[in-house]
Amino acid sequence: MSRTMIIGAGAVAGVVVHKCCQYPEVFPEIMIATRTKSRADALKERLRDKETIIHTAELDADDVAATVRLLREFRPEIVINVALPYQDLAIMDACLEAGVHYLDTANYEPYDEAKFEYSWQWAYRDRFREAGLTAILGSGFDPGVTGVFCAYALKHHFDRIDYIDILDANAGDNGHPFATNFNPEINIREVTAPGSYYENGEFIETKPMEISRVYNFPEIGPKKMYLLHHEEIESLAINIPDVKRIRFWMTFSDSYLMHLTALQNVGMTSIEPIEYEGQQIIPLQFLKAILPDPATLGPITKGKTNIGCIFQGVKDGNPKNYYIYNVSDHQEAYREVESQAVAYTAGVPAFIGASLVLTGEWKKPGVFNVEEFDPDPFMERLNIWGLPWQECFDPELVD
Ligand code: NDP
Repeated sequence: MSRTMIIGAGAVAGVVVHKCCQYPEVFPEIMIATRTKSRADALKERLRDKETIIHTAELDADDVAATVRLLREFRPEIVINVALPYQDLAIMDACLEAGVHYLDTANYEPYDEAKFEYSWQWAYRDRFREAGLTAILGSGFDPGVTGVFCAYALKHHFDRIDYIDILDANAGDNGHPFATNFNPEINIREVTAPGSYYENGEFIETKPMEISRVYNFPEIGPKKMYLLHHEEIESLAINIPDVKRIRFWMTFSDSYLMHLTALQNVGMTSIEPIEYEGQQIIPLQFLKAILPDPATLGPITKGKTNIGCIFQGVKDGNPKNYYIYNVSDHQEAYREVESQAVAYTAGVPAFIGASLVLTGEWKKPGVFNVEEFDPDPFMERLNIWGLPWQECFDPELVD
């Protein structure tokens, strides 16, 4: 009987744990290991009538030796890392030492620099391969399902993909003038960074929020979206052969951007430590402490998300366009797993990816991005486990 360790007990972890409990055949026994054990205990309490056996433990996953000890004690087959990107390398080190498969939803970021890229985690390829262990990087929605959509489009719809636009729209309203739907620190670091896109073999950098478009999203309607740098562009540029351009777009409300600009202007989004009353504090971490916790937004968020990919390419010598997307409803997600749809859309793919490792369908030694696996079993499970996808063969294109 396989065991699974989930590291973290925040918004995304809550969804992963609920989903594991819906699938006791593959997740008969899980452990939630996290910094603040009371959050793991609260999750366990909410799911006490489920068949899946839930254990909890306190863990600082930055401490490799402590993580190795806990892994050796619990002996899981896989770790689902839904703590923060800062922990990725420490948890990968611990998995290697304890002989455990690994999966995460966001690529490594150092604490002291707002920079994210795969090079640090790709450097583990040989070690995971030699240890016969699988590490899956970025199995959330974006990155995650977006990469699976790309692999699926290439396998079933195109001989060559020329252009990819990844579109992430959140038309949810949580009633707060400013709140982020996933960890505020990570979210703000991401959106205040310069944008970039991939074109003809190089990454072109833009100023933050410099490029925007209005797109008429199915089931949501017209929304203004902004070009961002996003981690899946880096791996897709390598794994989708001959692709000419990849762009990533995300919608933001005017209220969100207005508050963000003001916070940036006064220095509240900075990650440079400052001295305050004899203590070193990081303004962005202080801001996180006073913003609403994303895990509490579930009951109050209404509306839908739409995330998908638009492809332009060639099939059988003819030009072809194809749009594949998922629409999720915040309230439906809350009814099912007590979470808003942004955490839902990230947590369900982490659970699916882990289930595919446990069943052996996505098990191969090394470190991989999701588009490097056969997309079909993952696509099938998206429909089964709550993220059904829709297709359009004549989509509005992004100019
Ligand atoms: P939260 O802040 O809600 O949860 C993070 C959890 O990790 C908290 O329980 C936190 O503990 C725990 N944690 C933090 N540091 C440590 C540590 N050193 N050791 C052990 N546990 C720790 O974040 P989210 O749930 O919103 O996000 C989780 C991950 O999912 C992030 O990496 C995020 O980037 C990613 N994500 C990916 C998406 C995708 O589509 N690919 C979309 C959304 C998120 P504590 O309770 O003490 O704070």
